[in-house]
Amino acid sequence: MKTIHVNLSADSYNIHIGKDILAKAGEIVAKDKEPCKTLLITDENIERIYGDVVAESFRKNNFDVKLLSLPPGEEQKNIENALLLYDNCFAHKLDRKSLIVALGGGVVGDLSGFIAATFMRGIPYIQIPTSLLAQVDSSIGGKVAVNHPKGKNMIGCFYQPKAVFIDTNTLSSLPSKEMVAGIVEVIKYGVIRDAELFAFLEKSMDAILQLQYEALLKIIATSCQIKAHVVEQDEKEKGPRAILNYGHTIGHAIETVTHYKRYRHGEAVAIGMLYATKIAIELGIADTSVFDRQLSLMKNMGLSIQTGLKSEDIIKALYTDKKTVSGKLRFVLPTKIGEVIISDKVNDEILYRILDKPL
Ligand code: ADP
Ligand code: ZN
Repeated sequence: MKTIHVNLSADSYNIHIGKDILAKAGEIVAKDKEPCKTLLITDENIERIYGDVVAESFRKNNFDVKLLSLPPGEEQKNIENALLLYDNCFAHKLDRKSLIVALGGGVVGDLSGFIAATFMRGIPYIQIPTSLLAQVDSSIGGKVAVNHPKGKNMIGCFYQPKAVFIDTNTLSSLPSKEMVAGIVEVIKYGVIRDAELFAFLEKSMDAILQLQYEALLKIIATSCQIKAHVVEQDEKEKGPRAILNYGHTIGHAIETVTHYKRYRHGEAVAIGMLYATKIAIELGIADTSVFDRQLSLMKNMGLSIQTGLKSEDIIKALYTDKKTVSGKLRFVLPTKIGEVIISDKVNDEILYRILDKPL
């Protein structure tokens, strides 16, 4: 097992990564916390496979657990379900010392974290992410939210969990397309911060896709470490945290144009990373090998990377993104594998030129 500390003064916490962690979570939490009323929130897919193990792990340590599961899917991350969950917090008599446990992918994590952040102005919560995407990204860093008809994650805040438990065994039931979409975020960490991680992905993709423990531990722990460092420097995304958005500017635009239906988040981000790299090459700050190495990793995983979308539609969506500051586009661009810069020098003319050509 590996433990990574996220150092945010009073809001610091540990990320525990290993196998068979689900069954140990209750015991580890009980070391720092008196047993209490606990609302365990999950989705129906995950409840079926892991609900009992986690509920039992807390009950064995005298936590009074009520389990609640929602149907799976992004559309569940809405304010109506938040209200339903608040009702359950009251029905189960949660108070400010109680606990919320989020067991699931990013949807469950974001929604449960939002409940924890807002119920009685904030109660403790724990993340137990079960998808690779949530394990390497959304469960760490404290971004919590629900969606609004005007956009994804539009209603939310920053609220750190008390601990994160990552059990690599959960990946054995994760659909392989979800796994591949999650690996895209790991590639992202390699490009922005860690050439060695990137080289490991090139060497070990088969082992990762076969879910070999050592390989999974390496990519998850390294990703969490990088995310933790970035979040420690800039918890509320005032500046440097923006490098985590590599691939996400165009990625989000692609998700918007396709109404979040055609691509998984990671699939859209993969395309966004390739376009960002094309822009960097066009600006003369990166060489073509930076593009070729990412492309071959993605092809190796079976990702399809053509969009057939109109450049005009993508560019329109870019300007409506919530991260666009005063109408100015900001791009995270690689200069080599392991290093990126943030640039506001990308104009529409370059964008049209890049987006009009196939990747
Ligand atoms: P994210 O990709 O942000 O984690 P979701 O929370 O929607 O998004 O999870 C993606 C899908 O994968 C959902 O249908 C969810 O029920 C399912 N899922 C998540 N983790 C597992 C797992 N370990 N085993 C099986 N299905 C899972
Ligand atoms: Zn992402």
